[in-house]
Amino acid sequence: MMKIASVQAFPVSVPIPKEHQNQLRIGTMTKRDAIFVKVTTEDGLVGWGEAHHGRNPGAVATIVNTTIAALVKGMDASNVNGIWRKVYQAQFASHGMGAGSVIALSGVDMALWDIRGKAVGWPLYKLLGGERKPILAYAGGGGSLGFGETEALLDEVRELMARNYRAVKLRIGQGPKADLDRIEAVRDAFGDDLIILTDANTGYSLEDARYAMPGLEDLDVGWLEEPFPSHDYRAYEVASTFSSTPLALGENVYTRYEFAPHIERNDVRILQPDVGKSGGVTETMRIAALAAAYNIPIHPHGGVTGLDLAAGIHVIASIDNGGYFESSEGMNPLREGPFKNVPYALDADGCVHPLEGPGLGLDVDEDFIKAHPVIDGPGFV
Ligand SMILES: [Mg+2]
Repeated sequence: MMKIASVQAFPVSVPIPKEHQNQLRIGTMTKRDAIFVKVTTEDGLVGWGEAHHGRNPGAVATIVNTTIAALVKGMDASNVNGIWRKVYQAQFASHGMGAGSVIALSGVDMALWDIRGKAVGWPLYKLLGGERKPILAYAGGGGSLGFGETEALLDEVRELMARNYRAVKLRIGQGPKADLDRIEAVRDAFGDDLIILTDANTGYSLEDARYAMPGLEDLDVGWLEEPFPSHDYRAYEVASTFSSTPLALGENVYTRYEFAPHIERNDVRILQPDVGKSGGVTETMRIAALAAAYNIPIHPHGGVTGLDLAAGIHVIASIDNGGYFESSEGMNPLREGPFKNVPYALDADGCVHPLEGPGLGLDVDEDFIKAHPVIDGPGFV
């Protein structure tokens, strides 16, 4: 038995210099936040996971350190289902899933899977029954391709394509007319082979979607992500009839219980759980299986640090219905800074591969974590 000796969360922040502060629908990104979760067994095995910052990294870390740690200490680190169920029953079952608690558990669960891999010397994709295969990456996570002048956007896309990207996700939500103009400029400049995806970060009204969606279809946009808040089921149901452009969501949907109603309503055709938010590796695999029964692909939302990014690639490589990998572009010092190896690299075809080291496959630099303590306050202003 691999008894859990300690569970610790470390919230970290890195300020973003003014010239690299991208503007999105959700605000201007002034810092990058993340939470590292470290689980240590009595035998000295160490696993690392990422819990999403949840816009409040100090608070989410406190949930791990004050509550989840006490619940799981002494349990067998390999018993991921039992640990998940224990935290679920103690926290969410009677008091709701409240994003903070599920995010906190997600980071712990990811660290437990890192330990499972290290215990047997296998990379995560192998533990999950997957294979090392190429996975198409798209650029657009992490505040890249934001609002701004069209010429600057075209330069950014050009630079990404020079690095082998064949798919990009444009931030929209400035208003449907302005959004369509920017997408059209990219389509005109780079042709039909470029895969163009869009993300409104919940910035649309139903009327905005009614105006924009036929235009998105004409411009052959691969999906419209989060036009509305995820819990606005009725808006998704209505908008799903506006054009053939698929609606996508999932980065703000927690556990299989919240994904199920969207699947049943058939209101979205692409699901995007984030391993570091939706309930960890354990729960993301369940969500993927549920979606597979409805022929819905999983394109995981990409996290902030290499841990969540690497975990997402492992999951895609292991499920029947895996889609694209959302990379983290823009200025993100947490993507590679806290590690001694890189979480992903694009090959000549614009694809990534899961890491081969045991567990998540990343070597964490604890000095980086110590040197970047959390900065309180919102990261998007
Ligand atoms: Mg998004």
